[in-house]
Amino acid sequence: MKLPTCWNCDFQFKWSELLFILGWKKRCPNCQEMQYVTSDSIKMTSYLLIYDLIAIVFIWILPIDFWLQLLILIAMLLMTIIPIPYLIRFTNRKQPLF
Ligand SMILES: [Zn+2]
Repeated sequence: MKLPTCWNCDFQFKWSELLFILGWKKRCPNCQEMQYVTSDSIKMTSYLLIYDLIAIVFIWILPIDFWLQLLILIAMLLMTIIPIPYLIRFTNRKQPLF
């Protein structure tokens, strides 16, 4: 897995730059061209987040110790947040989701 690059100048984004992408678009810090997240990347990221939300509900209702629940939740959130920037790919124009 590798981090996405700019579609225009091949600038490689840093992991921390990709954690928060408002409106599924980001400007390249190198060439200033607008980068749009591909619809496939949006879908994969959304599936991961939906899976996380469902798992959080299940963990919350499990009859286990609160601190164990909290530990599992933190581990799950890290396992979701860390790979998300690697799932992102950019394109030069906004793609329809469906
Ligand atoms: Zn660029």
